Amino acid sequence: MLKAHWVLSILYLLYIIILEFRLLKNSCVDCYYWGKTCGFGKGRISSLIFKKGDISKFCAHEISWKDMIPDILISLIPFITGIILLFTGFDILLLSIMILLALLATTGNGFIRTKLTCTYCSQKESGCPADMLFNKNNK
Ligand code: SF4
Repeated sequence: MLKAHWVLSILYLLYIIILEFRLLKNSCVDCYYWGKTCGFGKGRISSLIFKKGDISKFCAHEISWKDMIPDILISLIPFITGIILLFTGFDILLLSIMILLALLATTGNGFIRTKLTCTYCSQKESGCPADMLFNKNNK
């Protein structure tokens, strides 16, 4: 994003911060791991900023792929920006970073969720909208 324009990179960073803040404020406060160490470390961060919520609310809303669009955009925005930049001038470093980003957003994310985090998550036992969405076809 910095290669495109420093203003774009700051806007992109702000977008990520806003989404993280929203997650910590609206979801992590109601999670079993609020104040505890979860796979992503956000349970502890959330407890430093926000008061504990209600664990029964964690699974109150079902989420769909449409709700995931803001999160998907975190990877898609720099990826599309990279494609535009590649058309203006080929850059092997940029192409390598884009391939890495695509792998992290797909296979890497899947690996982290299935092998390292969600598999061992205690919140999942009482319900998790994300787990229900991602593993809908496996149940
Ligand atoms: S099941 Fe996965 S997504 Fe859901 S709360 Fe646990 S770690 Fe997070």
